[in-house]
Amino acid sequence: MVIMNETSLIIDLHCHTTASDGQLTPTEIIHRAHGNDIDVLAVTDHDTTAGLAEAHQANNSFDKPLTLIDGVEVSAKWHSFDIHIVGLGIDRHNPGFQDFLTEQRLRRDTRALAIGEKLEKAGIEGAYEGAKALANGAAISRGHFARYMVNQGYFTAMAGVFKKYLVKGKTGYVANNWHSIEETVKQIHNAGGVAIIAHPSRYNMSTKWLRKLINEFKSCGGDGIETVLSQQGVDERALLISFCHVYDLYASLGSDFHFDSPWVDLGRNMHQPSDCPWIWQSPKWQEKIAI
Ligand code: AMP
Ligand code: MN
Ligand code: MN
Ligand code: MN
Repeated sequence: MVIMNETSLIIDLHCHTTASDGQLTPTEIIHRAHGNDIDVLAVTDHDTTAGLAEAHQANNSFDKPLTLIDGVEVSAKWHSFDIHIVGLGIDRHNPGFQDFLTEQRLRRDTRALAIGEKLEKAGIEGAYEGAKALANGAAISRGHFARYMVNQGYFTAMAGVFKKYLVKGKTGYVANNWHSIEETVKQIHNAGGVAIIAHPSRYNMSTKWLRKLINEFKSCGGDGIETVLSQQGVDERALLISFCHVYDLYASLGSDFHFDSPWVDLGRNMHQPSDCPWIWQSPKWQEKIAI
């Protein structure tokens, strides 16, 4: 199926399951997506595709399955920033890509040990073990550390943990060791996917640096940027849409849903302004991704 009239469809191309730091299983995510009337969903766990098989199984048990896109959110290094690149329409069975993701997860575990040590020195005990237990075999993320510290009563909300301990410049932050943007885009392309810069407004960088990032991403062959997120002002959205035009990139959109909350939900606020070159309208998507 090719999406002809995209504006009538509810599309959400970024969310997480228990395969990374989401709190719903792949089956629960699919049930929630159907409950929210979503037409096209991409599951994009951090550096893993482990949730996708179960998601497909759950989706195929519905009389009318939604269009489920195989995705992933890969962490990359650019200067001192952690940049997230979403790969959409990847072949999850591609051996080279799986080797790449295995390496990413090893780096996640090494980083998690270092984060645990730093937190221990700051008086927070058992954080590595606690985060690892919450991850339950899944790709370990800073989100697991934040949840552990909330569960232990250090903070009332995860945002507080990030602000005090886990962001750049704070005690529990460990300089990242991810692959470059160039390598990440190459790997996503080799696996047949399109590469999208996730949530460009969440990197805490000036507009000047954001332009530099997007420019470099484009020269590495990147395909698109997320322009529509669930909690976003109109000015920010307009700026991101203007970047698509200036840098000749396609637009994507996604809730980045992780867990049930009053603020973010699958498919919510996934507006599709008509002045935007949507990624599903790109020749690459229409050639390579069967939807
Ligand atoms: P990581 O990929 O391990 O570096 O962790 C990044 C993840 O932490 C994101 O995908 C979010 O799930 C979570 N995260 C980042 N910043 C915040 C924040 N300020 N509040 C809550 N969660 C956050
Ligand atoms: Mn996350
Ligand atoms: Mn992200
Ligand atoms: Mn995400």
